[in-house]
Amino acid sequence: MATIEEVRASCENCRKCPLWETRTNLVFGVGDPDARLMFVGEAPGEQEDLTGVPFVGKAGQLLDKFLFAVDIPREKVYIANILKCRPPKNRDPLPEEEDACIGYLREQVKAIRPKIIVCLGRIAAMRLIKPDYKITAEHGKWEKKGDFWLTAVYHPAALLRDPRKKEDMLEDMKAIKAKLDEGTDGQ
Ligand code: URA
Ligand code: SF4
Repeated sequence: MATIEEVRASCENCRKCPLWETRTNLVFGVGDPDARLMFVGEAPGEQEDLTGVPFVGKAGQLLDKFLFAVDIPREKVYIANILKCRPPKNRDPLPEEEDACIGYLREQVKAIRPKIIVCLGRIAAMRLIKPDYKITAEHGKWEKKGDFWLTAVYHPAALLRDPRKKEDMLEDMKAIKAKLDEGTDGQ
């Protein structure tokens, strides 16, 4: 079984889809290799491409606020994306790019073995939960898939566009925290 650093090394110079040509940095993933909670976004944006770290731009800062609000330290979770390279001008990932890249995410999940995987937004949910996932109607619902619990929440960029969704996001994040603490002493 590959460790997360071995998976990172295997991804480092990836040219499996054309996005390698326009990337500044690969954005593999960040966080605790033993995380019990994993977030999966869509693809790196501009700040992520420049730094090589997922969710560090405006959307990432909003995600940090929600993590803080429910008392989950960012360094205790693992954060990755479906795509490891930024699509030009932040366009939606193409199906063939997702197909080329998804194996790395699978390897990341196998290495980390989280208890909970949270899709950030519709694109990740359509890939990891079901192709016709409806984020407005279905966010916050849980399903058990193999060894882990799977759910989706609004993408933080959607909350920036429509702040009225923040209430629902807080409720979903509280439920994620509660699920994380189930059967533990909360540590
Ligand atoms: N949006 C994403 O989906 N992922 C990031 O890493 C940043 C913004
Ligand atoms: Fe490779 Fe994924 Fe980057 Fe495409 S997006 S080049 S598959 S790492």
